[in-house]
Amino acid sequence: MKEDNYKLPKEITLAKSAGFCYGVKRAVETVKKLKADNPERSVCVLGELIHNSQVIDELNRLGIKTLVELPECGQGICVVRSHGEAPEVFAKIQKSGFETYDLTCPDVKKVQQKAVELVKNGYYLIIVGKVEHPEVVAIRANALQYGQKVIVATEIEQLKPYENELKSHKKIGIVVQTTQMVSTLNKIIEYLTPISKELHVANTICPSTQRRQIEAKELAALNDLMIVVGSKKSANTTHLAEITKNITTTIHIESEKELENYKDLIEQSQKIAITAGASTPQSIINEVIEKLTK
Ligand code: SF4
Repeated sequence: MKEDNYKLPKEITLAKSAGFCYGVKRAVETVKKLKADNPERSVCVLGELIHNSQVIDELNRLGIKTLVELPECGQGICVVRSHGEAPEVFAKIQKSGFETYDLTCPDVKKVQQKAVELVKNGYYLIIVGKVEHPEVVAIRANALQYGQKVIVATEIEQLKPYENELKSHKKIGIVVQTTQMVSTLNKIIEYLTPISKELHVANTICPSTQRRQIEAKELAALNDLMIVVGSKKSANTTHLAEITKNITTTIHIESEKELENYKDLIEQSQKIAITAGASTPQSIINEVIEKLTK
């Protein structure tokens, strides 16, 4: 047996939901088509289109640039990625001279609309999500146009300083970052229920994320080892690893190269399941399978 080969595990299962979700697929395909249809024009994306360096490099080779920040003056087309942007960012893109191409995922748009609706109707809004995540930044900015009572939290500790304020408010509304875990939402609901007079919960975790998380749980229960493939910067991928590590041994890798670090573990496992985040290209998943079955 060669040094870099693995003993073939008895069984390897790939999650049906592994890899690109429809929002990411739509974003990658549309941006490529946009450049192909406009070869003479500059096409750029504000921020990384998805959390995957291979895809970003490929886009770069096709002439689609990633902007780290918005320049004062621009020309050509500026794409808003699937996470969405704050209304002031849309205004800045327009003002700098770019044509805006909005690729906000329809599921993210729904969360923004729900957040606005709740604030407009007098609810104290709680966004269950990571405060620094671009999707949450945009949801919060949209809601703040219509009221100041907006809190972002994934932990009860983040809500405690507002407890008296929340208790005295008539109505509390919840929306959720599309890639959050159901368990995080439940924890927040459990805390708010006894202290709120009226609690409106909009479970806005997107269907694609919910499917992926349910399948990951089911596979984890049936396998000795779960391999989660995808960027460590990707919220939905790290959540998959968090979910499965409570059920079975789990490793989170970004590419097949990291399998080498877990050689013993892989050799000892009889049943292995693989899942992948919404921004993980099929080619990377295939390389992992290939290395495992080589
Ligand atoms: S994870 Fe859900 S919300 Fe995010 S891009 Fe994919 S489908 Fe849209």
